[in-house]
Amino acid sequence: MLDLLVKNACLPDGRTGMSLAVRGGVIVEVAPGLDAPAHEVTDAQGLLLSPPFVDAHFHMDATLSHGLPRVNQSGTLLEGIALWGELKPLLTQEALIERALTYCDWAVAKGLLAIRSHVDICDPRLLAVEALLDVKRRVAPYLDLQLVAFPQDGALRDPQAMDKLKRALAMGVEVVGGIPHFERTSEQGALSVKLLCELAAEQGRLVDMHCDESDDPLSRHIETLAFETRRLGLEGRVTGSHCTSMHSMDNYYVSKLLPLMFEAGVSVIANPLVNITLQGRHDSYPKRRGMTRVPELLAAGVNVAFGHDCVMDPWYSLGSGDMLEVAHMGLHVAQMTSQQGMRACFDAVTLNAAKVMHLKGYGLEVGCDASFVLLQARDAVEAIRLRANRLKVWRKGVLVAETPEVLTQLRVEGRPGEVGFSQR
Ligand SMILES: [Zn+2]
Repeated sequence: MLDLLVKNACLPDGRTGMSLAVRGGVIVEVAPGLDAPAHEVTDAQGLLLSPPFVDAHFHMDATLSHGLPRVNQSGTLLEGIALWGELKPLLTQEALIERALTYCDWAVAKGLLAIRSHVDICDPRLLAVEALLDVKRRVAPYLDLQLVAFPQDGALRDPQAMDKLKRALAMGVEVVGGIPHFERTSEQGALSVKLLCELAAEQGRLVDMHCDESDDPLSRHIETLAFETRRLGLEGRVTGSHCTSMHSMDNYYVSKLLPLMFEAGVSVIANPLVNITLQGRHDSYPKRRGMTRVPELLAAGVNVAFGHDCVMDPWYSLGSGDMLEVAHMGLHVAQMTSQQGMRACFDAVTLNAAKVMHLKGYGLEVGCDASFVLLQARDAVEAIRLRANRLKVWRKGVLVAETPEVLTQLRVEGRPGEVGFSQR
């Protein structure tokens, strides 16, 4: 007897009429037309069953704090950082935990079951670190939360940051972060990359740095990050987040950079909603889009994920934890409008992001965790087009969220009574 059988599903790779059988929280069979007795049976009716959404770049210590203590007037990254500095001394652990838990509720409802969150370690109380470690424990039954020790004020620019970062790692934060473009000089930025990568190598940690989040084409810390990755044998374990300066770099220089990034196995995370909002702010016209070169990175063999980065915080006042909204913006900004390009954008919020986080048991293969989302869409492209409703979300075989099918009843004479926004 199976625990769960999902029948007649379409999978993101295009296979249709597929059944997934689940026992003990694990996928035990994937086959077309499979039928067997199960405690719970769901007929997917040809709709898309996807592995859960994964957000590889988020800031859960700041989420849902929009308007505290005031709103970002200029809308720039730097005013956002200053505003976060004003908010930090006012933070209480209870409020921070409550906001993070609320965001995790939103995430689960949207089928987002794994989040890598940066946590600012520059506060000497490490209040946000303690709070998010608590949140991580509390949400563990339904969501994977991975934490990055993020020196928001600069690993070297804040003279105590390295010590605080090491303390955060010792307390249970997993990944080494950084922000080289925010250090006082390019040399200091490069030195911070070197020191942080050495720390990660020493402690066997993954690395994920905010890297070159700027329109300055000469912000080239991604080069140092890739070089240090190879020098220290960290291939496949290092991620450059944002890399927006690549948008503005000289094409010849990029042609030399891309193979280095590929050889180092460095992943890149673009954050389309926030990059298009924060970058290009010093431009008049033309205004740069400020997202990294996603199609070119993919063509060079680099793993690229899309992150949400911010939801209702000092940098971005919108968002709801919907990774399909992120993919939707990503494909527009990168002009990845071919069918293949749009499917690649779906992968950027699922498979590629799971690869960044080194998630175990992720996918729809036999032996993977039975964590998946049934979407009100026929395929990945339609899912992005409609930012499709999440009908059912399972985590390790357990139903954790359910939303009724959305169908509008049309009251127009001579036209069909229902509108579902599907071409078929
Ligand atoms: Zn970020």
